[in-house]
Amino acid sequence: MQDRFVRRINELPKALADELLPMLGEQFCGHLDAQQVKQLCSVSKMDSHELGLALLPIAAALAKPPVSNFYVGAIAVGSGGDFYMGANLELQGEALFHSVHAEQSAISHAWLSGETHISDIIVNASPCGHCRQFMNELVQGQAIRIHLPGQDTAPLSHYLPYAFGPADLNVTAPLLSKQQTELVLESDDPLLIEALDHAGLSYAPYSQCHAAVVLETEDGASFCGRYAENAAFNPSMLPMQMALSALVRHNRSFSDIKRAVLLESSQGKISLVGATMDALHAVAVVELEHLVVDPV
Ligand SMILES: [Zn+2]
Repeated sequence: MQDRFVRRINELPKALADELLPMLGEQFCGHLDAQQVKQLCSVSKMDSHELGLALLPIAAALAKPPVSNFYVGAIAVGSGGDFYMGANLELQGEALFHSVHAEQSAISHAWLSGETHISDIIVNASPCGHCRQFMNELVQGQAIRIHLPGQDTAPLSHYLPYAFGPADLNVTAPLLSKQQTELVLESDDPLLIEALDHAGLSYAPYSQCHAAVVLETEDGASFCGRYAENAAFNPSMLPMQMALSALVRHNRSFSDIKRAVLLESSQGKISLVGATMDALHAVAVVELEHLVVDPV
């Protein structure tokens, strides 16, 4: 079991903790597939939402909050019943807008894993306004069920009435729906090709700045982030933040980063390069490789 879970697992009921323990090996990054969820439900005699609430201490253990020291854990439930955990991330010494919220981390975890719909969000603290707005950008966002400890389950429409969302800006394919923007790059560098693929899947209906970040660590692993825009602009999730959040979920350290690539479309009305460099330089002494590519 990874060190970060040692203390947290004692907060779980014994039968659940015993069954979960072998799943928390070195490779664990906060994902439980539907079969594992079913197995944990059966042993703990909980339904999947009770299980999600019981597992929040494990999700919160994925957090890295050096500024607030406030650990938030969230679980996004995919359409097939998979659990995708996420947690908050704050960058030491950098402006607070670089922070990632637990709900964003969990949702991006599901998105990067290929999910196209999230039915439920389970979280250990009431979603802030920023996260309510972020969730409102998702496919069938208003219907997402929010589960909080000690609260009745309610849809996002209860938490965010009179919402402003993608439909108000005539966007008909919201976040999590299949995006495909064809971009051109001649390269045989696997990291750049990975960045190209993810930029093509990014969600940038407002600026057309289709973009992705890929980080490579010393052990040869890579972690991606796609740009996820928001109708209200500020709650957008930058690709570097998404990649850093993935890296932390996979239990890597920022000091393990040896390469960092930002690839963005030449057609964007904006560029993410400044914000991306600031975030990278807050955590690692690595130069950002920046590529601007044309669409097909
Ligand atoms: Zn939030």
